[in-house]
Amino acid sequence: MRWTGRSEQEWRNWAGNQSASPIQVAQARDLDDVSLVVRSAADRGLQVRPVGAGHSFTAAAVTDGVLLRLDHLSGVTAIDPATRRVRVLAGTKLHQLNPALQEAGLALPNLGDIDRQALAGAIATGTHGTGTRLHGIASAVTGLTLVLADGTVLECSAQRHTDVFEAARVGLGALGVVTEVELQCVPAFRLHAVERPEPLLPLLERVQEEADAHDHFELYWFPHTDRTMTKRNNRVEEGAHLPGPLTAWRAWVDDELMANGLFEQVNRAAARWPATVPAMAQMTGRAQTAREFTDVSWRVFCSRRAVRFVESEYAVPRAAVRDVVLALKDWVDRHDEALPFPVEVRFLAADDVWLSTSHGRDTAYVAVHQYHRMEYARYFAAFEAIVAEHAGRPHWGKLHTLDAERLRPLYPRFDDFLAVRRKLDPTGLFGNAYLERVLGS
Ligand SMILES: Cc1cc2nc3c(=O)[nH]c(=O)nc-3n(C[C@H](O)[C@H](O)[C@H](O)COP(=O)(O)OP(=O)(O)OC[C@H]3O[C@@H](n4cnc5c(N)ncnc54)[C@H](O)[C@@H]3O)c2cc1C
Repeated sequence: MRWTGRSEQEWRNWAGNQSASPIQVAQARDLDDVSLVVRSAADRGLQVRPVGAGHSFTAAAVTDGVLLRLDHLSGVTAIDPATRRVRVLAGTKLHQLNPALQEAGLALPNLGDIDRQALAGAIATGTHGTGTRLHGIASAVTGLTLVLADGTVLECSAQRHTDVFEAARVGLGALGVVTEVELQCVPAFRLHAVERPEPLLPLLERVQEEADAHDHFELYWFPHTDRTMTKRNNRVEEGAHLPGPLTAWRAWVDDELMANGLFEQVNRAAARWPATVPAMAQMTGRAQTAREFTDVSWRVFCSRRAVRFVESEYAVPRAAVRDVVLALKDWVDRHDEALPFPVEVRFLAADDVWLSTSHGRDTAYVAVHQYHRMEYARYFAAFEAIVAEHAGRPHWGKLHTLDAERLRPLYPRFDDFLAVRRKLDPTGLFGNAYLERVLGS
């Protein structure tokens, strides 16, 4: 195991809006190392935060105690071809996991936009993609190995330590250090992707039907315009005659040049001359073109995101999505705000994970973004006020201001989660300021 002290290790998240100066950074190599770190921190009265890839926008992973990295706990440790269940070490990045699963003829049923997260980090905050008949990544979890506050190891599943399992699937890193995850996979599959620009208002009128008509439907609305870009991804039947993957050239032009290189320049210009943003947004909106391709699932789900931004995302009952987007559009139209980034809308089916943002209700996700060098507070506050009208639940890893008092009524199992936390971590060894706010002290 490797320890480094405060002077050597400042920590920052991907977006650069959160930082930490932990007393120590520990780089664990195996399960024993994790137990050792936890015991040693407890002996010294320090708190411990496991960190994944630092892709949360909230201070979920921030600590001035011991920051625990699990990057070396990486890889698939077991595959059961009969049940399609796999065991994966917690620090495995999704971009490492997806090809490894594919080699075994397997895949995760649904993924978010990127694959840079660590598996345990993605699960801890309820990371999700889109699909009205599908769930977030945590719903694929069938078992977890946790190192608890006293350094002991606990295996939980739907059959063993059920209450811990229910709480720890989206556990916010508040219950212990996840070291291994068992996942229920599906046979590897390909997706047929159809992406095209569409006007916002007519689309909103039929958005529920569109969401149901496709395995994975999402839309990006460009503020200051009435334009959207829609994505419809559907599972491909064997033998279907469809276009193949994007050529390397088209993929580079779309995903590197337009989505990253040029978009960075647009955002830099926006930060420098905010008054030009509405005109630029019209241009960006008009520059969107249609495309159609078929590829293995994870290559369609995940893209590279090189332009840094901050984000807030709320889960609302799916019936409310039209009203939320219209209210947001109305706010943008009435205010002098410079918003070069699109608003993203996605869908998921209700699940039963205690702190999942889609717990118990069919859900639409609305996400607002802002370039990392630009002002976002007023916009995000206006968005938060709009979704509050619809019992919006914030993504645990994306910016929001809710505290335990406001979160409790949104989650029927909130107090059950706290009871598990009290039992497993009575002294708050795994606490930090963010958890104190969202879970209470
Ligand atoms: C560019 C970008 C795109 C994104 N796209 C999506 C998306 O499409 N859908 C979506 O839902 N979210 C998305 N997110 C949010 C992101 O998926 C979540 O914030 C996720 O938690 C980040 O994973 P991470 O590995 O970086 O975890 P971190 O941010 O490092 O940590 C998150 C939490 O997990 C805890 N944790 C980490 N490892 C462990 C462990 N081993 N045991 C216990 N707790 C642990 C940490 O303590 C912390 O509380 C995106 C973020 C970015 C920056």
